[in-house]
Amino acid sequence: MRGNRTKKTSDIWKIVMISITSLLIMSAIVFTVKEKRELAKPSLNPPVEEQPNENNNSIENPTEADEQQEIEDKHDDKSNEEQQEPEPQEKPQKIEYDESGYPVTHIEPAEPTFVQGVLIANKEYPLPKTYNPGERPEAKAAVEKMIAGAKGAGYDLIAFSGFRSYEYQTTLYTNYVNRDGQKAADRYSARPGYSEHQTGLAYDIGEKGRESLWLTSEFGETPAGKWLHQHAHEYGFILRYPQGKEAITGYMYESWHFRYIGNELAKAVYEANTTLEEYLGLK
Ligand SMILES: [Zn+2]
Repeated sequence: MRGNRTKKTSDIWKIVMISITSLLIMSAIVFTVKEKRELAKPSLNPPVEEQPNENNNSIENPTEADEQQEIEDKHDDKSNEEQQEPEPQEKPQKIEYDESGYPVTHIEPAEPTFVQGVLIANKEYPLPKTYNPGERPEAKAAVEKMIAGAKGAGYDLIAFSGFRSYEYQTTLYTNYVNRDGQKAADRYSARPGYSEHQTGLAYDIGEKGRESLWLTSEFGETPAGKWLHQHAHEYGFILRYPQGKEAITGYMYESWHFRYIGNELAKAVYEANTTLEEYLGLK
């Protein structure tokens, strides 16, 4: 009995020991895991708690920087798209012209156009509505000199139309349209904004006493008209809309319309027997 009891006791003891050992092992495991968790926490927390400002910055800055980078990337993407596909950009800029040579939709220019220092006013390059220089002193002096030169040769010339304001050109053009219809008027009179007379550098010239020939091609056949065509360049003027150049200048032959461009250039254009558009490489 005693032996059995002893055995039972030792068995119970064993069980107790195993249980305690198991508990100890379990506790040890739990403790280790807990400790690992505890250890893991501080590795995240202390920087937040100890250096909140620096940490916040280090979080916010990269975010801002990332956003900025994203914006820049998007911007880059856009500019790349623009560079790679220029066609959609060019299409709205491609101007359509009507049968009279004017843009179908008028685009009001911000500034007048100068090509090689020469002010351009034609159906492709209109002047701003507000461009209102008045008669140019240099052109006025030149035309007076030219008229004096003609007088010396026996011709009594008169500049019957010079500088026109936008408003005056509007009235003039409207009257011509009412009289001859727009299609006809577009061949000899400029729409407001497109007239070279608005530059203050153009004159319509005729002969005194022969008013019936003013604004006609016949004027170019008269001795006075011929003299003018041959000598205008000596005074800095060119016959602006010569015969057979309507497709280039946009206007029918105007034997009476002269444009001041200065002596040197006028001589060069005259000797090249060309139009201002061609001489400046616009056509
Ligand atoms: Zn004119």
